[in-house]
Amino acid sequence: MTRPRPYPIVAPGTADFREAGAEPARGWEALHPADQRLVATHCCFCGVQCGMYLRVDREGRVFGVEPRDHDINRMKLCPKGVVAYQQVNHPDRLLHPLVRDRRGEPLRRASWDEALDRVVDGIGRIQETYGRDAFAVYSGSSLTTEKTYLIGKFARVALRTRHIDYNGRLCMVSAAAANKKAFGVDRSANPWSDMLETQVLLIAGSNVGETFPVMTQYVWGARDRGAKLIVVDPRETAIARTADVFVPLRPGTDAAFFNGLLHVIERDGLLDEAFIAERTVGWEGVREVVRRYPPGRVGEICGLDPELIERVARLWGEAERAMAFHARGIEHHVQGVENCLTVIDLVLATGQIGRPGAGYGTITGQGNGQGGREHGQKSDQLPGQRDIEDPEARAYIAHVWGIDEADLPHKGTSAVEMVHQMAAGEIKGLLGICNNPLVSMPDRDAIEAGYDALEFHAQVDFFLSETAARADVVLPGTVWAEDEGIQTNAEGRVIKHNKAAEPPGEARTDWWIVCELARRLGVGDRFAFGSPRELLEELRVASKGGNADYSGITYERLEETGGLFWPVPSEDHPGTPRLFEGRFAFPDGKARFHPVEWHEPAEPVDATFPLRLTTGRTVAHYLSGNQTRRIGALVEQTPRPWVEVHPSLGFANGDPVTVVTRRGRVTYPALVTDTIREDTIFVPYHWAAPVAANILTVDALDPTSKIPEFKVCACRIERGGAVDPVSPPPVPPGAPPEVSPVDERPPSAPQGRGTGEP
Ligand code: SF4
Repeated sequence: MTRPRPYPIVAPGTADFREAGAEPARGWEALHPADQRLVATHCCFCGVQCGMYLRVDREGRVFGVEPRDHDINRMKLCPKGVVAYQQVNHPDRLLHPLVRDRRGEPLRRASWDEALDRVVDGIGRIQETYGRDAFAVYSGSSLTTEKTYLIGKFARVALRTRHIDYNGRLCMVSAAAANKKAFGVDRSANPWSDMLETQVLLIAGSNVGETFPVMTQYVWGARDRGAKLIVVDPRETAIARTADVFVPLRPGTDAAFFNGLLHVIERDGLLDEAFIAERTVGWEGVREVVRRYPPGRVGEICGLDPELIERVARLWGEAERAMAFHARGIEHHVQGVENCLTVIDLVLATGQIGRPGAGYGTITGQGNGQGGREHGQKSDQLPGQRDIEDPEARAYIAHVWGIDEADLPHKGTSAVEMVHQMAAGEIKGLLGICNNPLVSMPDRDAIEAGYDALEFHAQVDFFLSETAARADVVLPGTVWAEDEGIQTNAEGRVIKHNKAAEPPGEARTDWWIVCELARRLGVGDRFAFGSPRELLEELRVASKGGNADYSGITYERLEETGGLFWPVPSEDHPGTPRLFEGRFAFPDGKARFHPVEWHEPAEPVDATFPLRLTTGRTVAHYLSGNQTRRIGALVEQTPRPWVEVHPSLGFANGDPVTVVTRRGRVTYPALVTDTIREDTIFVPYHWAAPVAANILTVDALDPTSKIPEFKVCACRIERGGAVDPVSPPPVPPGAPPEVSPVDERPPSAPQGRGTGEP
C-alpha cells in the first residue's frame, strides 16, 4: 500500500519532483514517512553535482538517498551517488583528534585542546626557526567554496606563508590556464543544456560514462536529436562505443591531432573568417603552424588513419553548431595547457562559441573543482580569480582582509613542487586538508620522501587516509552532509549543499577547525566567523569585481533558483549561463589564438620501455579512493586495480602482468581487451601501495599549469610473478580493523567498456 506523501522538505530545490507531482518509485520505504525527512542537496563526488535528497530519521541519522529532479541530473544518480550517504555513519569515521607522541609511535586519542595546541606549537616553532614560508598548506577541492576561501585567507593572513596550493593542481589547472590565456577567464563557456542544440559534439580525453556518468544523458540527448558524436581517446570507453566517430589516438599526441583538424579546415576553406576578424587576435600565427600538420604527418604521430582526421575535420568544419569538451585525458600532460589551447584554436577558427549549441567546456573532476580554485587557495590567485601579483588585486583583497598589502604574501609554488621542497628541506611543516597525496601524486616514492622529511605534519580529514595515517596530528572534519555551503559544478553553476546531520563524535566542521587555529595563533579577530553564511558574506565582497564575481549570490537565491551561473555581479543579476555571447574577457573583448607545436611526452618510448602507460578512473571509485574504498557496494563492484592490455600482447585474462617503469614495478591481473591500443596499457589509480598506479607514473610537470603527466609515461610489461595484494584503507585506533571486504579475484569484465557483466 502506498503511504501518504510528501515528506517535509527542509531545504527545497527548484523543480522539485514532489511539487511537480512526479514521484519516484513508491512502496519501498523502510520507515514511515512521519519518521523521516528529506534534505535537498547535491552529490559530494564529481563535478556534475547531481541533485539528490538525503533521507534522515527521527534521531537525525542519514540513512538513505532519493533522486531529485534537479535541472542538472533529472532524477539520475550514478553508482557512487546512490551510496555516497554511507560515508555519514561509517564505522571508519574519525571521531576524535589523534596525535602521535613521537615518530614511529602509533596515533592516540587526544582532546581538541591538546591537538590544536600541538598544531599551533608546530607552526610557531617552524616559522620562528626557518621563516614563514617554511610552513605550507595543502588543501582540497571537495570542500565547499566558503571553506576554500577561508583556507586561502588563513594561509596568507594567519600564517603569512606564500606556500598554499590545492589538489585541483592534479586535476583542472591545465584547462584553467588555457581558458585564461585564450578567453581571459577560467570557466566552461556553456550550460550543458546547450549540448541538446548542437550538431556535432566532440569529446576528447574523457571517459564520460564512468567518470561523469550522469553527463551521459546530455551526450545521448544530443545524439538522439541528430548530433554526430566524436570521441577522441586511446581507449574505446563506454561513451566511445556509442560515438559516430571514434578516434583511438596514441597517448601524448593530442596537440598534433587538433592541429591536423585545423590544417584540413583551413585547407578546405571551412574557417569562419568573419568571426576570426571581428572577435579574435593572433590567427595568422596559428595558420602558419597548422599548415605544417597535414593528415599524413599527423596520422604518423598519432597512430591514426589520415582519412579519420579528414573525416573529423569535415564533420566539425561543416557544422553550423558544434561543441567541444575535454577532461584530464588531454590535460594531464607536460603539454597539457597547449593541448587545451589547440582545442580552443579549433573552436575559435570556426566561430563555434558564444551561441546556443556552439561552445566549449572542460569537465571538472572534483565536486568543487571549479569553485575550489576561484577564491584564493590556488598558489597564484586571490579571491575572484584575481592574479596574486596584480597590484590592484592585492590592494583590494588586503583592504577586504584588513591587512597591509605589504603583508600579503606573493605567489607560492604548486602542489607537487611543494612536496619536492619538503624533500629538499625547504618546507618543514605542513597542514593538509582533505587530500591524499600518498595515493594521488605521481612517483609515489618521491612523494613519500617529501612527507617523511617534514618536521611537523597535521592533516584534517573525515577518514584516516593513507596520508593522514602518517601525520603527527589528525583533526577529524566533516563529510558534506554535515555542513552547508556552495559549490560550483563543471558548467560554472553555483549550487548549494545543505546540512542533513550533526557531525559524529567530536568531529567538527573544517571551517571551525581553521578559525580555531587562527584564534590560537592570535588573529582570531580576522576569523570571527560563526557560520558558512558569514563566510559567504565576506567571500561575496572579496570576489566583487573579479572575473569570478559571486557578489550577487545568496543562499536564498540559490535555493530559489536551483543554482546560478557566475558571474553574478549583483543581487538582481540573473547569472550568466552562456559566456562570450558578445565579448571575451580581455579589455579589447577579443579572444586570443595560441600557436602550438606538438612535442613528445616527457618520457618517449624506447627499446627498454616500448609501451605507453596511461592511468585513469573507474566508475565505482573516486580519486584516491579514501572514500569509495570503504563503501561495500563499490568495493564489491571493483575490488582492485588491473592492467588493461591488448590481445596482441599475448596474455590471458587474470594473468599476472608486471608493469615496469623507471620508478618502480607493480604486478596486476591482466584484463585483455581489444578496446585499447596495441602500444598502450591502462591502470586505474584509486588504490594505495603496493598496487598504486602512482608508483609507476612520472612526475614531469607542465611548465605553465604544473600539472603532472599522469596520462603517459614509458613502460614495459613482464610475465609471471604474483599479483600484488590490495591493502585495506587505514582506520583510526579502536575502529574495526577491516570493515570493507577486499576481494582478490581477478577482473572478469572489461570495465573500461562499462558492461559490469561477468
Ligand atoms: S555523476 Fe557525479 S555527481 Fe552525479 S551521482 Fe555520480 S558521482 Fe555524484
